[in-house]
Amino acid sequence: MTKRDQIADRATAIKRGLDFLYRVARTTDGFDSYGSLLISCFALVGATSRDARLRQLARSRAEQLARRWRRVHPQLPTEVSADLALHFVFVRYALSRLGLKDAALNAQIRTAVKRFSAPDLLGFDPVSEPPPSDLSYRCDCGLKNQRGRTFCKQCRKRLQVKTRYRVWMEALANTYVGARCGVLFGARYADVLKWLPSMRPYPAAGEDEEVVRDAIFAITHLVYTLNDYNTYRLSTRLLPQEFAYLKANVEADCVNHDPELLGELLDSLKAFGLRASHPLIMRGTKYLLANQNEDGSWGDPDEEDIRTRCHTTWTATDGLRAHAWRGERAIRAEIKSLLTG
Ligand SMILES: [Zn+2]
Repeated sequence: MTKRDQIADRATAIKRGLDFLYRVARTTDGFDSYGSLLISCFALVGATSRDARLRQLARSRAEQLARRWRRVHPQLPTEVSADLALHFVFVRYALSRLGLKDAALNAQIRTAVKRFSAPDLLGFDPVSEPPPSDLSYRCDCGLKNQRGRTFCKQCRKRLQVKTRYRVWMEALANTYVGARCGVLFGARYADVLKWLPSMRPYPAAGEDEEVVRDAIFAITHLVYTLNDYNTYRLSTRLLPQEFAYLKANVEADCVNHDPELLGELLDSLKAFGLRASHPLIMRGTKYLLANQNEDGSWGDPDEEDIRTRCHTTWTATDGLRAHAWRGERAIRAEIKSLLTG
């Protein structure tokens, strides 16, 4: 297969993946449960892809979906919930990546989230404690239970506990995206980032599978928040341990059939400078191309959680996509000192 054929194959697979996401975004269920993130997905593809046609297509879809978002949410509710405030922040960040800014709305969000504490927004207070391992996912019945509970207060079901890597990853992303919109989302990004040394060393292969997975997701989100979601390359000298850990996990993700994780992994490795011709990128790319579903998605087509189906497809397209890097990011001294701590 020639290099040109390979690029054409990748472009077709990416287009099919984005078509799947757009079909989901246009359903009521899909939009209600994942709309803000699908707007983010299309906006970032529109802002960071090397392929001009792909940029154009993704941008127009992001704008379409943003119009729908405004119809559903014409204004920020006065008593906005923490969850909805976060969705607003995601949409603001996404649109800012397309040059569509709204300072007045950002100011409203900034004021609205002031009535929440850091634990309300992030589950813990990063100023005073490391990411904890006693926070649970929202119960299937809909209740977000208090920290430390192992059974749901409402329906008595056993709760699924988040790993500390998951808690840290979410806090990194939420405070970073908030800050980019001028919103202090519970804490400063630097206060979340400063716990990086306590997350090392990363779990070895063979340890609890969920912990290993979440550690990788934490590192990819560390990369995303340091390189403005694939806008800049990062020097491997900044994060040698993280770079090595990501490289060491490519093969396992292919063998374990985990395209959701693999997509983000390839994405971050490319940010660290690995080229399309690098054996690890080639291995992962080949896996993704060979494992796309009939409907254009990736992952288990019988998965009931539409958010998982979307996120898996989103990350797989990112893993295949070529980015229009704007050079290597210069990291502020304050942030740099936290990476080596
Ligand atoms: Zn419950």
